[in-house]
Amino acid sequence: MNILVLNCGSSSVKYQLIEADNRKTLTRGSVERIGMTGATLSNKRHDGDEIRIAGDILDHTIAIEYILAVLLSRNHGVINDKSDIHAIGHRVVHGGAAFANAVLINEDIIQLIRASCDLAPLHNPYNLAGIELMRGLLPSIPQVAVFDTAFHQTMPSHAYTYALPHELCEKEHIRRYGFHGTNHEYVALRSATWLKRPVSELKIISCHLGSGASICAIDHGRSIDTSMGMTPLEGLIMGTRPGDVDPGALLHLMRADSLDVERMDRMLNRESGLKGITGKNDMREILAGAAQGDVQCTRAISAFCYRIRKYIGAYMAALGGLDVLIFTAGIGENSAEIRAGVCQG
Ligand code: ADP
Repeated sequence: MNILVLNCGSSSVKYQLIEADNRKTLTRGSVERIGMTGATLSNKRHDGDEIRIAGDILDHTIAIEYILAVLLSRNHGVINDKSDIHAIGHRVVHGGAAFANAVLINEDIIQLIRASCDLAPLHNPYNLAGIELMRGLLPSIPQVAVFDTAFHQTMPSHAYTYALPHELCEKEHIRRYGFHGTNHEYVALRSATWLKRPVSELKIISCHLGSGASICAIDHGRSIDTSMGMTPLEGLIMGTRPGDVDPGALLHLMRADSLDVERMDRMLNRESGLKGITGKNDMREILAGAAQGDVQCTRAISAFCYRIRKYIGAYMAALGGLDVLIFTAGIGENSAEIRAGVCQG
């Protein structure tokens, strides 16, 4: 059985075609900078064959058509016909409280995902666009949604409750959901395998540090707390999101600068975090800036690491100890400097 896995983001589509029976990735790649100048498709096949195509990729429809063309191409492809794709798995960021597991997609599921779009405006609309595009292109192939929120559905109510008026929370489904669950679960299981210990014996803290960043406390293989909340805005400092911030400061800005909801949304989702402090959201550039003595870059790195350290302390208390500390995603995997900064002290 061949499964096409799609992760449709705002300006990128990442994909893998996996031969499930052998757990073998036949080919993988990504389309980046969709709708911008300098768009590219990169594909790497299991035998090492690589291609990179540069050109105008105006929207997600064209991106997905390019991907299918590469999968089917005579020189660089891995399948002969679209019917060689037997199922499609979509990453979906927000599943609300509706989904504790992956689900087969139908019209009802699509409506539930659409209903969650306001909760994850940077992600869910693009995830949904990918689902609808594939249903149009390959209507007879089963499609499954895998939710970033599902793993955290095991959080106890004391971890997911906000101290806001209860009736309002009930009416608007306001509670903490958590994200990056697919990865937190995966790295926890991988670390247990790697340590040759059952995951049920381990107290694990997983730090997912990418453009988005979150940290998760995992006890007996189950998420008991995580730093992102109702939306992916809460918690750690991220590329363009601030993480934890006093709501009073936001109220002040709304009054003092007459910021409306749209402007506030843009500020919190796109103009804050590392970018807000330094003007840049790429950690490599910020590390390079700090190395050249840029004060704001140095401050951003210190704040980024300190926030993570503070959460690790809190989650050690929540877990009653710690056996494994995991670093994952772009920054977590690649930057020894940030890992050292987090673990300092
Ligand atoms: P996402 O998938 O959320 O877009 P990634 O997990 O790809 O994000 O992580 C992107 C982040 O990882 C960027 O801030 C990038 O600068 C950072 N990153 C990638 N490689 C390195 C590295 N070698 N050192 C420091 N940061 C890195």
